[in-house]
Parts: sequence; structure tokens; C-alpha cells
Amino acid sequence: MNPTATQRPQELRQPRQLSLSTLLAAATCLLTGTAIAVVAALVVASTTMQQATRILGDASESVRLADRLQVDLFLDAHQISRRAGLGSLGAITDHPAWERELKEGLAEAHRYVSSPEEGSVLEDAQRRVEAYLARRRAADAGSPPPSPAALAPAVDAVDFDDAFLALDRLVAINLEQASASKALVAHLGQRASSAGVAAVVFFMAGASLVLLSARRLVYGPVVAVQEAIGRYGAGDRAARAPLVGPRELGDIARAFNSTAESLERQRQAQLAFLGGVAHDLRNPLSALRLSVSFLTVDGPPPDPRVQRTMAIVGRQVDRLERMVGDLVDASQIEACKLDLKLEERDLRELAQEAVELYRPVSPEHPIELSLPEAPVLVRCDATRIEQVLNNLLSNALKYSPAGGQVDVTVRGGDGRAEIAVRDRGVGIHRTDLPQLFEPFRRLKASAGAIPGTGLGLAVAKRIVEAHGGRVLVESEPGAGSVFRVELPRAS
Ligand code: ADP
Repeated sequence: MNPTATQRPQELRQPRQLSLSTLLAAATCLLTGTAIAVVAALVVASTTMQQATRILGDASESVRLADRLQVDLFLDAHQISRRAGLGSLGAITDHPAWERELKEGLAEAHRYVSSPEEGSVLEDAQRRVEAYLARRRAADAGSPPPSPAALAPAVDAVDFDDAFLALDRLVAINLEQASASKALVAHLGQRASSAGVAAVVFFMAGASLVLLSARRLVYGPVVAVQEAIGRYGAGDRAARAPLVGPRELGDIARAFNSTAESLERQRQAQLAFLGGVAHDLRNPLSALRLSVSFLTVDGPPPDPRVQRTMAIVGRQVDRLERMVGDLVDASQIEACKLDLKLEERDLRELAQEAVELYRPVSPEHPIELSLPEAPVLVRCDATRIEQVLNNLLSNALKYSPAGGQVDVTVRGGDGRAEIAVRDRGVGIHRTDLPQLFEPFRRLKASAGAIPGTGLGLAVAKRIVEAHGGRVLVESEPGAGSVFRVELPRAS
């Protein structure tokens, strides 16, 4: 018997079962937590990048403005020195407009200040430019138009250099900020790539973990319960669902097991009742058989009509005795009261006896017997094994049309002996095979109106299994069936 099929739920019980909702909640928390961490990291990275980009933009604007102011200052100073050198007045800068533009440029530069240090450098540059402008204005006062010769010494080269260098420092500090921002962006880019790869790896690991856990904690147990239910449905009455996996599944398994147990108890009670009834029927049946044999043996030969009737009664009594015998056997087997009287026997002899018994029963079915030369010894209860062979042969004849040949073959293999009964009868559908050995199971397709109890195969299977063997069946509807009995060989 399949060892897993006989495992009791107690052996399979898990100490503590988590509920399916807890498992789902844990998986959801794990994946949601990971997603939140990734989103938070992305938000921080993008905010920092935005800041760095803004600083870069401000720095480039500041540099542009400072450059423009420097050019303006330079052009102005160049114009003054040229006029001084040439001694001619010529066209001079429209000073108020020029000064206004210069001041607007400086005011605009304040909008792009991005650090206190830059702010103080800008203020310093502004002070120096204004000092330069003040000198320039002072030099302008009293004229129009000012004489270049008077103007040149008035605008001190020191003021120009101060203003020019202050703007240089502004440019330098902005370039520093720009390169720092660039480095920060590059660094963040690298970090973001590594974080992206890490997030993908983490997600994949998390998803794999969730899938593996779901497989181990949910899918595996579901399959185990499904298999147990399938085995039970296929006729393995001892199959029980293991109490594994989430709590909800455990509840289903428990409900299935208790239903199976109660069905089993009902079946055993039913069989015990039928066994008792069958046992009680044996005595009146024996009396009936005795009376029939007295009537046919003693006295003058009765009327042919009475003879025919007595023959019919005799056959019906035989049938009743077989059915009662099957019922008693089935109930004894279920109650584990099968007593085997083991002895060493040649399987060839048992097969021969069974064939000889059945040849006259149905002359329209030719029975072919194939035996090996060497003895095929098995340790068995000969009466029980004969009972098995009788059942298989009787079925082969019952479920075959007239003229259908039946082959009985004995083989001795390595450690195992086999006897096969093949018929060319109605056959059995593939889907009916699993239930074939259940007590009281009669298949509509093959049994039809043929009399029987549906107990013969169930009893035969249990007898063979009690010998450490097994019964195998192959069949094809319309083509016939082969029933093979395998028994351990006597060493
Ligand atoms: P019974 O023959 O008394 O009905 P069995 O337990 O011997 O009971 O057989 C159970 C059922 O299996 C039968 O009713 C029949 O439907 C089917 N069966 C058994 N042997 C054969 C066979 N050789 N060919 C076709 N069907 C069979």
C-alpha cells in the first residue's frame, strides 16, 4: 500500500499555521516598503539635481553679466585713454545711459546670487564699480563737454583696476560654483545609476522571495491537499490531506479529513452490518443446498420439469453462496480479520486448477493457458489465491461475448511471480479504472444486466495486497482487459 496514503493528519500537523491574509499582508508590506524607499530616494535625487541645475544656470547668468560689465568698463576706460592720447574730444559715451545700464546689470546680478560668499563678492564689486563711477561723475562735473585731457587724470587707473578685478572675482566664484554643481550632478548621476541597479536587484530579490515563499507556503500545500483529495477520489480511502500551509487551507484539509473519516466509519459500519447479515444467511443457505442435493440424489429420478427446476435452484443457491461468501470476506478484510494460512505453492498448479474449473462453466469461451517450464513458487494462502483467480476468470468470461478467447499466462520474473488473465471483452474506460477496486462498484458500461455484487475485485485486491503483491489492470473499451496479479516469489 502507498505509504503516504496511510499517513495520519496528526503526523503531518504543523505546530503553527499562519493565515493567508497574514502572508498576503506581509508580501504587500515588503513590496510597498521597497517601492516607498525607491520613490523617496528618487525624490531626494531629483530635488538635489534640480538645485544643482539652478545653481549652474545662475552661475552662467552671473558670469555673463560680469563679463558684460567688464567689457563696458573696459570700453569706457579705453575710450577715455584714447581721447587723452589723441587730445581730441570726438564722440564720447552717453554717460548717464551707460551708467544706468551698468547699474541695472549690477542689480540684475543680485538675482543670480546663490551663496552668501557670492553675495559679499558682488557687493564688493558693486562698491568698487560705484567708486569708479563716482570718480567718473566727478571728473565730468563742470563740463559739458569735458575735456579729455582733464578727464584722463581724473579717472584713476586704480579705480578701474579695482572694479575690474572685483568683477573678475565675481566671475571666478561663479565658475567655482558651476564646477562644484557640475561635479555634484555627475556624482548624483553615478549614485542614481547605482541606486537604480540596486533598486532593480532589490525588487527582483523581493519578488523572488515573495514568489518562493508563496510557492513553499501556499502553492506546495495547496498541491498536497489537492493530491490527497485526488487520491481519495481515485479510490484510496486511506488518503488524508496534510495540515500544512496557511490556516484557511488547514481548515479545508481538516474538513476534508473529518468528512473522509466519517465516510470511512459509515462504510465500515455498513460492511460490518452486511457481513453479519451474510454470516446469518450462510446456515439457511447450507440447509437449502443440502435439501436440493437430497432431492436430486435420493429416490427415483423425478419428473424432467422438476429436474430442470432443481438445477435452476441449485445454480441460484451457488450464486447466493458466492455472493454471501464475498460479503463475509469483504467485511472480514475491512475489519482486518483476514487470516492467511501461508504455504509454498507452485503458481502454475493454482492457475491450472482455476482454468480446469472454469472451462466447463462456459464452453463458448476458449481458455488458453500458458505456463513456464520451471515451477513458479510463491508463499501464499492457496484457497485465497484461488479465490482471486476464480474472480478474475469469472469476470473475464462474464464480460466477454460468446467466442471471446481468454488467455491465462503464468510468468516467473526476478523476485516476482505474475499471473495474467486477458480477455477480448467489453473492456473498461480509462476514467473508470481508478474506482474499479472499490467495494460495491459496478460499471454500467460493462456490468449492464450481468449479475454480480461488485465485491469480487475489492476482495481480490485486498487478498493480493495482504500477500505483499499487487493487482494491475490495462484495458481498452471494445478490445478487452488484462488483469495482472503480482506476488513475491518464494526464495
Ligand atoms: P462483479 O463482477 O460481481 O460486479 P467485481 O468486483 O468482480 O464485481 O467487478 C467490479 C466491476 O468491474 C464489474 O461490475 C464490472 O463492471 C467491472 N469488471 C470487472 N472485470 C471486468 C472485465 N474483465 N471486463 C470488463 N469489466 C470488468
